[in-house]
Amino acid sequence: MTGEQQPEVAVERQAMDVDIVCVGFGPAMGGFLTTLGRYLAPGDGGASLESRVAPGMPLQVICYERADDIGFGVSGVVTRARGIRATFPDLEPAQIPMAAPVRHEKVLYLLDPVGASRRPASLRLADNAIQALRRVLPYEAEALSLPYIPPFLRKDGGLILSIGQFNQWVGGQVMASGAIQLWPGMPVASILVEGDRVAGVRLVDQGTDLQGRPEAGFLPGLDVRAGLTVVADGPVGPIGRQLDERFGMPEGHHRRDWAVGTKVVVDLREGVGLDPGTVLHTFGYPEPEIFGFLYVHPDRVASAGIFVPSWLESPVRTSYRYLQHWMLHPYLWRYLQGGRLRSWGAKTLQESGRRGEPRLAGNGYARIGEGSGSTNVLTGSGVDEAWTTGTQLAEAVLELLREGKPFTQEQLERTYVKRRRASWVEAESRIAERARDGFHRGIVTGLVGMALAGLSNGRLAIPAEPAPPHTRVPSLERYYRGKIPADEIARIRAECAARGLSLHDALMERAGWPVIPFDGQLLVTHQDALLLGGKVQAPPGYADHVVFLYPSLCERCGTKICIEVCSGQAIAQGDGGIPAFDREKCVHCGACLWNCAQPHPEDPERALIEFRAGAGGLHSAEN
Ligand SMILES: Cc1cc2nc3c(=O)[nH]c(=O)nc-3n(C[C@H](O)[C@H](O)[C@H](O)COP(=O)(O)OP(=O)(O)OC[C@H]3O[C@@H](n4cnc5c(N)ncnc54)[C@H](O)[C@@H]3O)c2cc1C
Ligand code: SF4
Ligand code: SF4
Repeated sequence: MTGEQQPEVAVERQAMDVDIVCVGFGPAMGGFLTTLGRYLAPGDGGASLESRVAPGMPLQVICYERADDIGFGVSGVVTRARGIRATFPDLEPAQIPMAAPVRHEKVLYLLDPVGASRRPASLRLADNAIQALRRVLPYEAEALSLPYIPPFLRKDGGLILSIGQFNQWVGGQVMASGAIQLWPGMPVASILVEGDRVAGVRLVDQGTDLQGRPEAGFLPGLDVRAGLTVVADGPVGPIGRQLDERFGMPEGHHRRDWAVGTKVVVDLREGVGLDPGTVLHTFGYPEPEIFGFLYVHPDRVASAGIFVPSWLESPVRTSYRYLQHWMLHPYLWRYLQGGRLRSWGAKTLQESGRRGEPRLAGNGYARIGEGSGSTNVLTGSGVDEAWTTGTQLAEAVLELLREGKPFTQEQLERTYVKRRRASWVEAESRIAERARDGFHRGIVTGLVGMALAGLSNGRLAIPAEPAPPHTRVPSLERYYRGKIPADEIARIRAECAARGLSLHDALMERAGWPVIPFDGQLLVTHQDALLLGGKVQAPPGYADHVVFLYPSLCERCGTKICIEVCSGQAIAQGDGGIPAFDREKCVHCGACLWNCAQPHPEDPERALIEFRAGAGGLHSAEN
């Protein structure tokens, strides 16, 4: 399929009517369904909320999740858990597998122990000063521990969670309520629109070839018609993007700041000396723009990972390779050495925050969670915010149901949007709104801007206009100027193409990054990580969900960052210079959605890749 889209196959579809149809099961939907389910459960006033589509029956609520179970998810997570605790006031961390209360927090500036990272002169000066004064500073193992953690970064009284385990714990209770159906393994393909109203969703077709053409056993996706469609499909969800295309973004809003988060779950060695509840945040290495985290769960298990942001001006933004260099930093390796890879994963974060907020509600639909701009980019917090927006929508929906009012834009704005605007989620997102703009002018201005915004409650910030991601992708020749001559880049490019390899390993090693000393248990090849640390599943009979819209433009693309960044090695060199997609390796991280070197010819805010609804992906309940 190309930019010249194939005509839709005309088929007869089955249809079903429900009261509320929900898209995606992450923390936002967890908050929505938990709050709603409590009032719908039999014997708890549920009878008063009669179905509008099946009179005499209880309210019909159904939720479709793309991944093959409801415990899919990739996240840190450390969270203050204010919203989660408001829903579960008696919550004991021990109730949730892998949860631990936050005990010790540290923010570390990592120096560059290998001399390969691209540090501006100001950081090099700072590094030299730290080295010179290291005996009197809180410095050890090439890292400076910040003596003061600003309140906006602290997670006092919070929780360390595994998102997979948390989602499963929440989902178990939602299903036990008996009032709501949860269907994993059911990607939602599109919205159904009637005039200016969203009238439900269409599920993906099954039994097709990779281009979506019917084959034997073809099962056209069901049309699920509903009075309210709740969209919580996360940062890269196709349903949220369809709504944006159909109804437009609010004036001045856009999604230009992204990051790909890559993490490992590690069984730490015995006697490692890290208590459950330990939280380490890092910045400065492997590239200054890359932030990292290490959180310690009970039973000597840690989650550790990095975020590679869209403002990292590198054409080889490989998060997997950078993760390994980060793990090998002497400060962290002291803890990670001897550990064993238990699980692995990658996922995109929407980092535009409130500036990326879409229309929160319209006729027949409402949006919650990260796709609705709830993630706080200053505090590095998304789970609790997503959860809270879900609970706010549930309270609004219950109010409208009790009043017998329709799910119109006006009514949803009066109930849901009003609650959201009056809440801490909104107040804190306004403080964070311009906090990261400084990163568009450089790493040091970015860090200063964050500190200014955080300490002044958003009154001060370094002004800059976020730029679309494709403008932040230099050519390989420009990026490596002075380090690797252009003719050598051409040679490496030809050699890698002949062997079907991405370029980042060869280029990074040529630019001074040491070879990764694979140990087969924690430091493993990218391919082994896909097999070992979270199995990738791709059930047959579905169309490709990653599509190159303009192959002729890809053919001429010298950078091909989509190949370099791909978290699953699912995008590779293809025939005639056009990348090839292998859905059997795709972990659905969504990084290809925003990692493209060229703008879409009709919409410069979009890339040349389309990321559609797809089945399968990473199967790991521990991330
Ligand atoms: C590596 C990493 C570390 C992070 N660390 C932290 C942290 O320490 N603290 C913190 O608070 N936040 C953290 N976050 C952010 C946090 O994970 C998100 O903000 C949060 O998960 C958002 O919740 P959500 O429910 O809005 O979306 P998601 O969790 O993204 O859930 C959306 C769901 O929708 C499903 N879906 C998508 N498309 C479809 C479709 N077409 N049909 C059906 N289902 C669909 C997806 O499969 C997914 O399950 C981190 C994120 C990453 C990637
Ligand atoms: S999708 Fe974008 S980055 Fe990838 S080859 Fe095409 S133009 Fe280049
Ligand atoms: S192809 Fe799949 S694994 Fe690769 S970047 Fe895109 S979503 Fe991630």
